[in-house]
Amino acid sequence: MIDNIYKSQKLADVCYDIRGPVMEEARRLEEEGFRVLKLNIGNPAPFGFDAPDELFHDVILNMRNAQGYSDSKGLFSARKAVMQHYQKRGLLDVQIDDIYIGNGVSELISMSMNALLNNGDEVLIPAPDYPLWTASVSLSGGTPVHYMCDEQSDWQPDVADIEKKITDKTRALVVINPNNPTGSVYSRDVLQQLYNLAARHKLMLFADEIYDKILYDDAEHVSLATLGEEVFCVTFNGLSKAYRAAGFRSGWMLLSGPKLRARDYIDGLDILANMRLCSNVPAQYAIQASLGGYQSINDLVLPGGRLREQRDLAYRLLTDIPGVTCVKPRGALYLFPRLDPEKLPIANDQEFILRLLIEKRLLLVQGSGFNWPGTDHVRVVFLPDKDTLIDAIGRLRDFIGKYQGD
Ligand code: PLP
Repeated sequence: MIDNIYKSQKLADVCYDIRGPVMEEARRLEEEGFRVLKLNIGNPAPFGFDAPDELFHDVILNMRNAQGYSDSKGLFSARKAVMQHYQKRGLLDVQIDDIYIGNGVSELISMSMNALLNNGDEVLIPAPDYPLWTASVSLSGGTPVHYMCDEQSDWQPDVADIEKKITDKTRALVVINPNNPTGSVYSRDVLQQLYNLAARHKLMLFADEIYDKILYDDAEHVSLATLGEEVFCVTFNGLSKAYRAAGFRSGWMLLSGPKLRARDYIDGLDILANMRLCSNVPAQYAIQASLGGYQSINDLVLPGGRLREQRDLAYRLLTDIPGVTCVKPRGALYLFPRLDPEKLPIANDQEFILRLLIEKRLLLVQGSGFNWPGTDHVRVVFLPDKDTLIDAIGRLRDFIGKYQGD
């Protein structure tokens, strides 16, 4: 007799819907020969956004040097490039040993939570969020506590809501800026309030800044860790977005602030970094080339740049749909429109997205997949070219028209 094999109970509250059940359905449709328009994943390269040439050059040139494991925290040259990059931005006390290279920011998010949390420890995470944060807290035995970002104020974090939710179990505050899924870029003033709040309540800060160079209009990115010296901060960034090399799986995290106070936590990080030996070494050779070279992302986000034009087009087409409003994103690769619940009541947004997929062959992600408490938002990726965006948003418009009429 074969006993059933069950997944771990640790996964009971773990959810990552960006690649969830709806994506399975999309795969099934594709296997049947249908073309599905996928505006669901922030993966630049397949949409024709190639990584800069110098990345390939350095990786290929160093392939023979990349056969063995590296130091578990990463190659000296890569970490030095990261260190100098942040020193230039005003983080003066950063040393090589404060930097860990990972297989993408994803691995480091999960490591940073595993090293910190005991069962029941709470971590404040934005709603909406990039859901890996919530999933990683849950998987580490912690309790994610979501604070609201305010759509009426360009999706800036609601500082009063954060303060209300701090308890004696709160360990840390997560800030995702520029934000996925809202595209919001936080003001210096709000960031300073968040920093001061963390200082007052002796919380540590996790700053996910993977979109820090994908900025539109007059948006300015301020690194949270540069706003003071009294809070222990972990800052995350990598090659997946601004350098369009998501498949390389290369990212880093950087420790700053009162490191002596965090000695024991850092010991935990070192144990976990040692246990996974090191991150993919060939991809580590792309880091120095990326940070030091010509920042070609600027050509994409400045006026006339492809990303900027696609953002403008997608924003215009979406907000032309009756019942749809949207805060114009000033960073990242996403729009997070609101579908007016008065005109378009959606009981279950996953079912809504599934129906959209089946009827219109268009794949988006439901707002609840980003731990948004309502069913009135979807996330739209604006990486596809203009013709595809026109086609895709046209399909959404038709679907909404029909849905309203149902
Ligand atoms: N953080 C945010 C806010 C993201 O949007 C993503 C990917 O979409 C990641 C982290 C993970 O990035 P990586 O490819 O470096 O694992």
